[in-house]
Amino acid sequence: MTTIPQPQIAPSSQAQFAVHNPATRETIGTLPSLTPAQIADCVSKATAAQVRWAATPVRDRLRILSRFGDLLCDQKEAVARVISREAGKPEAEALSTEILVVLDTVKYLRNNLPGFLRPEPIAHGNPAMKLKRGQLLREPYGVVGIISPWNYPFSVPSVQTLTALATGNAVVLKPSEFTPYSSLELQRLLREAGLDRELLQVITGEGGAGAALLAANVQKVVFTGSVATGKRVAQAAAARLLPVVLELGGKDPMIVLEDADVDVASSAAVWGAFMNAGQTCLSVERCYVHESIYEKFLEKCVEKTNKLQVGYSHPLRRTESGDNETHAGAKSGAPGADAEIDVGPMIHERQLSIVQAHVQDAVARGARLLAGGKPIPSLGPNFFAPTILADVDHSMKIMREETFGPTLPVRSFKTEDEAVALANDSEYGLAGSIFTRDRKRGEALARRIMAGTVMVNDVLACFGISEAPHGGVKASGIGRTHGRFGLEEMVWPKYVDSDRLPRMKKLWWYGYGATFSQQMTGFVELLFAKKLINRMRGGIKSTKSYLHRKIL
Ligand code: NAD
Repeated sequence: MTTIPQPQIAPSSQAQFAVHNPATRETIGTLPSLTPAQIADCVSKATAAQVRWAATPVRDRLRILSRFGDLLCDQKEAVARVISREAGKPEAEALSTEILVVLDTVKYLRNNLPGFLRPEPIAHGNPAMKLKRGQLLREPYGVVGIISPWNYPFSVPSVQTLTALATGNAVVLKPSEFTPYSSLELQRLLREAGLDRELLQVITGEGGAGAALLAANVQKVVFTGSVATGKRVAQAAAARLLPVVLELGGKDPMIVLEDADVDVASSAAVWGAFMNAGQTCLSVERCYVHESIYEKFLEKCVEKTNKLQVGYSHPLRRTESGDNETHAGAKSGAPGADAEIDVGPMIHERQLSIVQAHVQDAVARGARLLAGGKPIPSLGPNFFAPTILADVDHSMKIMREETFGPTLPVRSFKTEDEAVALANDSEYGLAGSIFTRDRKRGEALARRIMAGTVMVNDVLACFGISEAPHGGVKASGIGRTHGRFGLEEMVWPKYVDSDRLPRMKKLWWYGYGATFSQQMTGFVELLFAKKLINRMRGGIKSTKSYLHRKIL
């Protein structure tokens, strides 16, 4: 049995907030809303601990991360239940899109971190600099502030935290107020694995806690969330010249070409639109299908959608004996008891009403409703039926704004150029996908899509590829997490250059006079004159002048 992880500061006068199960509205627990002073205190403790951590050999840091991976693997079902209960997602998705992703990140870091942090020799092309040795070092920022959303409450903060810690930073993590227990699980497991408690501190609270973290003495911020909050974070960071990564929203297009396998593409569209109840930054939010297969594609999507089980794997309803106690204190039954559930609830009423408004707007503007289209209150407060809309157009909110719900709006196109133009007609640029039997054609088309990631013949799965950089262009954000680019975001480059001839004065130092000008004229000609003869003359002029020069 494990205990409920709690943040370190919780005096009795502390303001608190409640965390609810989105499927049932039951209260899972209450947690302290930390004050700006408490958050500043966490950051200053992290600052002191980071100095020791940065000096810890990489192999020792990785040993702790590996131990964390082992613990997570052993406790995967219990952690999945914590995630599932506060985010509402099926436990199978908690395992596949959260825990698996995190474990793969541990493996990625184990395999790649030593090489990444090894000083990188920098060759010098300029002949005047050939006697120098250049190397690039990668230095940790210090304390990285991480602010997370609710939709992937474990994988998003964990991947970022592990990457920051591995590269020698300390982390102060502000999880979403809707899903803080998943981050507390991350903290618990890392501490059990041997991480100094001050190197990762989860600070609980609402939006104000995020703002207070930005005002505290962090040296870098990694924010994942909505565009609206992202802009506020960018403004606060700009005031302090604080480097920031922004992983924001998406409106990802899926293009189905006329040569695509309709059965495969329709399965992908249904999963890509409804997985995690459509609350994924990489969800298929818009679908464009070639007119020759449009009706067949829609038919298959409707058929598959009608087979989906909407509901919730409700830990409180499981009563088998021998249950585990979950971290928020509820009884939980055998894993897989509700394995048939495909689509869970929306996170809260506000999200549900956005989805409903987008669907109503589309129908009012002439879209054809082929499946779903309304909430399912009989299941609980936040359930919305997986919805398919055909004949949508770009005047509709559902094709322009992030819906973030179980909706699949589809329209047809005639030519590739039209499909590309439609896909790029968006303020967002997170990801996109193309379905075709011709991989080369798909890859060529991918180059024309303005998005951080384009998948050919799959959707969303890029998030599970630890080597793949994750992030967007346009309103979808700045910077990257995951893979090598994600590692680069957690360090600053330091260039160290040492001259191999410490007893030699350098020819560009003082002692200019007319000879120096001649020397430089000759040197520029030697390096850059078009004709060989001029380069040779330049070389002679430069050498002669050098021999006559007196460097101070
Ligand atoms: P949100 O912007 O409402 O909140 C994100 C976090 O910011 C929360 O922890 C919140 O408490 C905090 N916050 C709120 N106000 C703040 C402020 N003024 N200063 C600092 N922090 C503040 O987003 P959300 O509703 O939790 O998440 C959903 C959004 O996240 C969607 O738009 C989704 O596309 C996006 N998202 C993007 C990615 C990606 O990788 N690009 C991944 C997951 C989610």
